[in-house]
Amino acid sequence: MARTVVFGSRPPTGPRMMLLIPGHPLSAHVRTPGGVGRRLAGMARRIGIMGGTFDPVHHGHLVAASEVQARFDLDEVVFVPTGVPWQKDGKQVSAAEDRYLMTVVATASNPRFSVSRVDVDRTGVTYTVDTLRDLNARYPDADLFFITGADALEQILSWHRAEELFTLAHFVGVTRPGYSLADAHLPSGTVSLVEVPALAISSTDCRARVASGMPVWYLVPDGVVQYISKRGLYAAED
Ligand code: ATP
Ligand code: MG
Repeated sequence: MARTVVFGSRPPTGPRMMLLIPGHPLSAHVRTPGGVGRRLAGMARRIGIMGGTFDPVHHGHLVAASEVQARFDLDEVVFVPTGVPWQKDGKQVSAAEDRYLMTVVATASNPRFSVSRVDVDRTGVTYTVDTLRDLNARYPDADLFFITGADALEQILSWHRAEELFTLAHFVGVTRPGYSLADAHLPSGTVSLVEVPALAISSTDCRARVASGMPVWYLVPDGVVQYISKRGLYAAED
């Protein structure tokens, strides 16, 4: 059963989130006006931020974003491909423009999904704190929800200027096969943990499959399969 757990005394995700904790006295599902109605009512827009290297973007990313969009009643989810990701410094990462274009192709069919160039166009190493600052400036009246997988969530406290991150967005940690959602040491009321349909897909595995001649059909969107082939990405070096 889908489960959303909120840490802290106050549901930080607004009045329309589901608290589905069996037997919990706060369990509720309260509807408030969606998108247009919310704007007419003068309520803040709710924008999800899905950051990632997206080398390549795959269905695990898309399912996680879609699930959080629905569960948190987000007006929009903005995918933000990293420029030079600091966690992957030293490892080979495809050109930012290729990762950006694959993400555009993958998200094009969903009217609630969009892609931002904010990290791709910033020079230097990508830090999440810069991403969130820039997006707060871009959407000054919106509530931001930073969506991150369980593996990345575990690293949050080691992130550059971690304490500032929690002032810039509410964090949503999503489950990911092979990783457990650790809630220890996270500031109270700042992180929600959401169970999403499990897809044991990783970009690392997709790259390895392409390099060894195995298919990535149905692991990534069809257009991304074609983009990888057209650009010759991830081919094994001779
Ligand atoms: P790599 O293997 O190169 O690290 P990845 O599959 O982990 O790639 P990233 O671009 O690193 O993809 O991930 C972006 C975000 O999406 C991270 O927060 C990550 O935890 C999350 N994520 C990636 N794959 C999944 C998945 N299958 N299910 C849920 N979340 C995922
Ligand atoms: Mg990763």
